Amino acid sequence: MRKDGLLVVLSGPSGCGKDTIISKVLDHLTGEAFLSVSMTTRERRGTEQDGVDYYFVTPEQFRENVENDLMLEYAQYGANFYGTPVGPVKHLLAQGKTVILNIEVQGGKNVRRLIPDAVEIFVAPPSLKELERRLVNRGTETRDAIDRRLLIAQAELQCACDYDYIVVNDVLEDAVEDVLSIIRASALKTNHAMYRISEVLNHVES
Ligand code: 5GP
Repeated sequence: MRKDGLLVVLSGPSGCGKDTIISKVLDHLTGEAFLSVSMTTRERRGTEQDGVDYYFVTPEQFRENVENDLMLEYAQYGANFYGTPVGPVKHLLAQGKTVILNIEVQGGKNVRRLIPDAVEIFVAPPSLKELERRLVNRGTETRDAIDRRLLIAQAELQCACDYDYIVVNDVLEDAVEDVLSIIRASALKTNHAMYRISEVLNHVES
């Protein structure tokens, strides 16, 4: 029996610290867990690199990928489209790796429907005021864009109840530890860990 990979979805309002949590989680799980690089039609920000932070594409290129069934899921967020290329996710899961998707709530809902044993974690900020402070301090968005993101955030928080777990990112290290605990425990659930029993049964002393 083969070890199945674990698909982990992290959603939560823009500015709640998902990116930082994910990068710290990946540092702890080097070689075991990978972040899926999404495709987006939005403009590149600051130091973002094509193929590392996102695949930055035109709306036409994005539509072609959707039409050719190359997306696991996609959604519109604000004025832009975001989607998960399906190829790398399937490849890594087949190798027994953990794949993390950093996606918004519509994408989370689609993944839940398509892959019911995906583990879905909602990351919440400690308060809306703190979320606003983080978005302002990030300095990457106009005041208009921040206000739009704060409005979206309130709607997103209503979707937290559909997720398997809720992690509040107040103290970063605690939030990272929470996400690591969830990933570790999920990998030990029977639906993911039965391969261990066949290893026990097939183990031959040399
Ligand atoms: P940002 O513009 O701040 O990088 O991302 C905006 C939102 O889009 C975030 O909530 C982020 O999680 C989400 N997002 C990023 N990639 C994807 C994706 O592939 N699919 C979906 N559905 N959402 C995504």
